[in-house]
Amino acid sequence: MAGKSQGPAIGIDLGTTYSCVAVWRHNRAEIIPNDQGNRTTPSYVAFGETERLLGGSAKILVAMNPTNTIFDAKRLIGRRFSDPLVQSDKELWPFKVVAGLDDKPMILVNYKGKEKKFVAEEISSMVLAKMKETAESFLGLMVKNAVITVPAYFNDSQRQATKDAGTIAGLNVLRIIVEPTAAAIAYGLDKEFSYPNEKRNVLIFDLGGGTFDVSLLTMENSVFKVKAIAGDTHLGGEDFDNRIVDHCAQVFKRKHKKDIRMDPRALRRLRTSCERAKKNLSSATETTIGIDCLYDGIDFDYRITRAKFEELNMDLFYKCIKHVKECLDDANMEKESIHDVVLVGGSSRIPKVQQMLQDFFNGKELCKSIHPDEAVASGAAIQAAILTGQGNPVIQDILLCEVTPLSLGVHMEGDVMSVLIPRNTAIPTKKESIFVTCSDNQTSVKIQVFEGERAKTTDNNLLGKFQLTGIPPAPRGQAKITICFDIDANGILNVSAEELTTGNRKDMTIINDKGRLSSGEIERMLREAEFFKAEDEQYRRKVEAKNDLESYVYRMRSKIENDMNFSLILTYSDKKKVELATKMATDWLESNQLAGEGELKDKMKEVESICEPIIAKMYSNGSAPNIHEVD
Ligand code: AMP
Repeated sequence: MAGKSQGPAIGIDLGTTYSCVAVWRHNRAEIIPNDQGNRTTPSYVAFGETERLLGGSAKILVAMNPTNTIFDAKRLIGRRFSDPLVQSDKELWPFKVVAGLDDKPMILVNYKGKEKKFVAEEISSMVLAKMKETAESFLGLMVKNAVITVPAYFNDSQRQATKDAGTIAGLNVLRIIVEPTAAAIAYGLDKEFSYPNEKRNVLIFDLGGGTFDVSLLTMENSVFKVKAIAGDTHLGGEDFDNRIVDHCAQVFKRKHKKDIRMDPRALRRLRTSCERAKKNLSSATETTIGIDCLYDGIDFDYRITRAKFEELNMDLFYKCIKHVKECLDDANMEKESIHDVVLVGGSSRIPKVQQMLQDFFNGKELCKSIHPDEAVASGAAIQAAILTGQGNPVIQDILLCEVTPLSLGVHMEGDVMSVLIPRNTAIPTKKESIFVTCSDNQTSVKIQVFEGERAKTTDNNLLGKFQLTGIPPAPRGQAKITICFDIDANGILNVSAEELTTGNRKDMTIINDKGRLSSGEIERMLREAEFFKAEDEQYRRKVEAKNDLESYVYRMRSKIENDMNFSLILTYSDKKKVELATKMATDWLESNQLAGEGELKDKMKEVESICEPIIAKMYSNGSAPNIHEVD
């Protein structure tokens, strides 16, 4: 456990579209605004000709650099390239995703004129590093410890990959907690004083940018017990945007016989407008998607109604309600027994979604008391304060009991899934089972670990495999092997196998044998992240040096041209010297756009060495009493 000496611990909601960071201060969870004053930061990273941009500045310029501006990394995290969901997303992204080693998806960008490949964890780590930096500059302190949230339905490899992203960002990930539980903590704290000593069943409906989670919890005296979770790691605002984008592309094609999908920049501009229109339609019943020169010089102007938007997405909205029902069924609860239905996530603002949910709960009023974009980060910050002992007595008593999202088991002869830990089991947990060999004189067994709800293992998701060797030869069914599944508080699984007579044992933290990063790779990425940070800093200093030179030249010009105190008394030859020096610097800047910090500073010294003696001369003979420097 991390102690107080290690500085404040933060909570990060690493979202598909936006991220948010919070800290426990002054007896409450405080959302930390970023350098642009915004309380959420776009989960965007842009790779340019000269620099790397993160967050808001990357998103603002996305239309200028669509193929190298990466978003939605969370949709790729812990997945394989051949995953049908990756394949369908890929079609809609303006950036390129290719298959890497072992089917790992790699994001292809052009950075500073060179092709570079990144895994999703690296992009997420850059977003996390931005959130860390935001917290550090707000608090004026180094921040190391963090709680990061993931969707409830993230599987083991997606949780691991998120933890790895945190490590690459230079964070010590205290705990991975699930988003709806984090929101429930924030909600619970909000309600702490309204319902003391009362047991409440709370359903958290969390519909974000890329994921959807439903979580059913009971809250009683600061104990948050998750009863069941359901959801979809691939359902959210981005999908609703995609439907509008698709529709508009079809409208454009019908009208102009041209396919805008051929042009990533047009597609990106259309997507931005569609997202804006979707948000507008949460308050207005009609809005316009208007884009000048969208494709081939043709403008796009389209009025979309709320009814059309709902029609385009109705099947997805139904999916949300289906998951709510599943969650209640899993928890064995009737909808009438739910005390509070809490809305979380930006997309929970959609009126049709709210109406369908309210209808499902027979007209029950939905709770909108917590901020849908900030509740998850607040809950994570509370958990971070608890884990580091930095909270107050109210939160220090909070106890979280989470559950496993999917059943976990091993492959048995005949393609049968033997479940060791059923879904919705409270974590941390440890389960053991004894297995026997299935052939005579078998000296090794292959342990294959799967997650999922299907009876046949091949229909489920393979998490990892390993071989236990050195089994003494014996007739089939005699050698006994104990397999133990141990899930820690982060929901991360450790598996061990032991042959009972010899004590021969092998264990491993489940690594998605094809998808996960090795510790060597993480170390390399950590070094690269440091390198990027240093490069960004170097670039910032270079821009500063360029700005200094440009503004110096501008000031000198102003002095000799516009400042009467100066221009009237300056000798002709001194004026010419300043003019020449500043012109020389401007010309040099124009033809040396890529000059480094050192060269810029040298050039500054050169101009100063000509101009400063002239200025000093003016001051010393009292000729320029009214001049004041404006820096
Ligand atoms: P989150 O992941 O919770 O930050 O949610 C982000 C998603 O919420 C994005 O897809 C946004 O477009 C969406 N969103 C934010 N505000 C609204 C709104 N007023 N109406 C509909 N969707 C919204």
